[in-house]
Amino acid sequence: MSFHALGLQSQLVETVTRLGFETPTPVQQQAIPEVLAGHDILAGAQTGTGKTAAFGLPLLHRLMDTGSDSLPEARDAAGTPARVRALILTPTRELAQQVYDNITAYSEGTGVKTVVAYGGTSMKMQVAALRQGVDILIATPGRLLDHAHVRTIDLADVQYLVLDEADRMLDMGFIDDIKRIIRRMKSARQTLFFSATFAGPVKKLAYSILQEPKLIEV
Ligand code: AMP
Repeated sequence: MSFHALGLQSQLVETVTRLGFETPTPVQQQAIPEVLAGHDILAGAQTGTGKTAAFGLPLLHRLMDTGSDSLPEARDAAGTPARVRALILTPTRELAQQVYDNITAYSEGTGVKTVVAYGGTSMKMQVAALRQGVDILIATPGRLLDHAHVRTIDLADVQYLVLDEADRMLDMGFIDDIKRIIRRMKSARQTLFFSATFAGPVKKLAYSILQEPKLIEV
């Protein structure tokens, strides 16, 4: 099994090959074709299994297919919220930064623009980055809501939602923030739900936001 055989665009296959990935990991083999086919997924995967590429690569593929509409000149400079097409939620700043670093590496040459936003750093810097255009936003829940409240980000057009380490987000008390974030989106979207564990509240959240998900267990 190769990355090419999973159906990814050749640009992405070349990039991961250059990064030294020869064979897709089990979670990548299972998740990538399902995401490319447009399905929601519910994946049980720990850190270190290659889960970031499992959602990041097919997400980039799909965003490349439809082209970037994030050109800064398409919006007036001040006041208009950045319209995000893909949102990746993570529990911690460290994970947000790590996911951003990985997706940025995978997106080289694609024209897809990625921005990261988490608490503890300046809102102003993040707003400046958003004004340069954004397709994929990686964010922690609290800081994302701060941006939504001051209308520097608009979530209505989110087509792809990823919850990374959902169990940790619930452990950290983000359930209400996650629900508030989802209420700001239209319901027509593809949702990718990753968690290491599936205790009651995690499963409940998953089944309240996923539509006929494909189950992936590695
Ligand atoms: P993750 O589970 O997403 O945190 O990934 C763990 C590490 O594995 C990261 O440093 C990736 O760069 C690396 N990695 C992901 N997919 C592959 C692959 N197919 N082959 C080799 N390394 C990989």
